[in-house]
Amino acid sequence: MKLPVYLDNNATTPCDPRVVEAMLPYFTENFGNAASRSHAYGWTADEAVEYAREQVAELIGADPKEIIFTSGATEADNLAIKGVFEMYAGKGNHVITAATEHKAVLDTCRHIEKLGGEVTWLPVQPDGLIDLPTLESAIKPNTILIAIMYANNETGVVQPVKAISDIARKHGVLFFTDGVQAAGKIPLDVNRDGIDIMALTAHKMYGPKGVGALYVRRRNPRVKLTAQIDGGGHERGMRSGTLNVPSIVGFGKAAALAKTEMHDEGVRLTGLRNKLEQELLTVGEAYINGNIRHRLPHVTNISFKHVEGEGLLMGISKSIAISSGSACTSASLEPSYVLKALGLSDQEAYSSLRFSLGRFTTSEQVDFTIEQVKKSVHELRQLSPLWELHKSA
Ligand SMILES: *Cc1c(COP(=O)(O)O)cnc(C)c1O
Repeated sequence: MKLPVYLDNNATTPCDPRVVEAMLPYFTENFGNAASRSHAYGWTADEAVEYAREQVAELIGADPKEIIFTSGATEADNLAIKGVFEMYAGKGNHVITAATEHKAVLDTCRHIEKLGGEVTWLPVQPDGLIDLPTLESAIKPNTILIAIMYANNETGVVQPVKAISDIARKHGVLFFTDGVQAAGKIPLDVNRDGIDIMALTAHKMYGPKGVGALYVRRRNPRVKLTAQIDGGGHERGMRSGTLNVPSIVGFGKAAALAKTEMHDEGVRLTGLRNKLEQELLTVGEAYINGNIRHRLPHVTNISFKHVEGEGLLMGISKSIAISSGSACTSASLEPSYVLKALGLSDQEAYSSLRFSLGRFTTSEQVDFTIEQVKKSVHELRQLSPLWELHKSA
């Protein structure tokens, strides 16, 4: 078994070899610029991009014309929120989002606040779900957008997206969702779910890094966005710049594979995740963070009480690649703001681990992880005065 075992698939996934294979010709013989209209090199590249656009659209039940390719989900999140804020300035300036959103959404909302926008940061319930009546009562006459993610990157908690979109519709407010962690993992359908705008990225679904998409609804209602990158008018004027053809081809292939393999993969990963979780909980004084019914099949986030969190992560990092919190915040050594929003103390947030399994996770790797983490928790507790106190209490 190759070490460390990779259980950090919510941070990024390896490219599926079938994706790499599909991409390769577009670096060399089919290197054309998809915007070159006057020769076969351009036509070939353009055909490949349009095919990928169909594949991505099909994964989420959209029309290919509703897919705008971007450099990833951070850009897509920015385009969605800033694009609506500028385009609908005549209608209002209020955006509603939630405390547990990804930084790409939170920091973008902070940016529009600086531009004179008004933002409501909804709290979440202890299980990570937003409270629907609280959401509805936050809507005001100047509200233009609700920005709430489909599934959380740290806990895997899946929000009641259909109920959220029903509320948005009822009040004539647009609904944007960051669908990064849900896409390719659970069935998404922009029409069934009532989504107006959605951000996606390839590298969380076994595609390459540096390519993503924004779904922008064209009918009922027709959503318009102000471009954030100008020049040339690519992507229906919403995102200029020469298209990253090989990566877009890879994204399309990744979407097509996810579409056909999602169901069986979900069943397999649920089994592995549940085994991992049940075994780890046997150490006692360990708790799952987030709602366990409404969540992604491949994720679990567990707090181990009476252990020093940094020690825990350090103790296992040679053998298992996991994180406490998201990749973007783990650099800062701050306790996870997502877990704190669920009501955990700094201490509890520090001693939490996120395990995110993936397509290439094996049952052997899960067994090894169970053994290593249990061992590490036991060792740390032997050293911990807190554990002594707990046992004698
Ligand atoms: C990873 C992630 C992003 C950022 O996507 P990039 O393509 O890496 O910019 C945005 N939102 C969520 C929920 C994510 O997990």
